[in-house]
Amino acid sequence: MHNQADYSHLIEMLLGGIPLSVLEFRLRPHSNPERTERQASKLAKKAKWHTNEFEDYSTKGFLGRNESLTELVIGDYKIIKKAGSTYLKIADELDKFIATPYSYKLASGYSVDEAILINAGVQSCPWGCDIFGGNIAVIRRDESSFLSSFNDMLSYFGFSLPHLGRASVLVTGLLPHLVREHYFFEGRKTRYRADPKFLIHAFNLERNY
Ligand SMILES: [Zn+2]
Repeated sequence: MHNQADYSHLIEMLLGGIPLSVLEFRLRPHSNPERTERQASKLAKKAKWHTNEFEDYSTKGFLGRNESLTELVIGDYKIIKKAGSTYLKIADELDKFIATPYSYKLASGYSVDEAILINAGVQSCPWGCDIFGGNIAVIRRDESSFLSSFNDMLSYFGFSLPHLGRASVLVTGLLPHLVREHYFFEGRKTRYRADPKFLIHAFNLERNY
């Protein structure tokens, strides 16, 4: 048994030298780029951080408006650990899936669908890594309950309820990088969340006893 878990190393790796307030700001939804630019520079000054060069803001956001990045990432870490998987395994499997999405063999009960969401071009890594990616495909859980489908819809409006589970996950070209380098599956309250539990099941990555 572990004593009180210490997540300081995980958080340090997650931040990658960027102040938490700046990173959370970059990840949250933005509708007015001009205003956000002003807010960003204000925040950057407050955080004594002079190079907030990330300008490719996401309208819908990588994180819900009021979500805590550290709480989210610690929660995801626990999910992965409990399932006996790793960030690396999930990221590698995402790469394989992206290489051949329509012939990749998903676990039974999952199927692949075209990414029908409007793709307004590519999104770059909010950590400023110069990595880009657009929508690839959607993994759908067959016979999803009404509640999981409803939960997917709620996430468009930032009200997703984690205990209801998700009916589908949108895989983007940026996702393997976000998982591998930043331990990030996007916020629970965004449409773009690639729920780790969902991916571990869909890719058959549970620990084999
Ligand atoms: Zn990055």
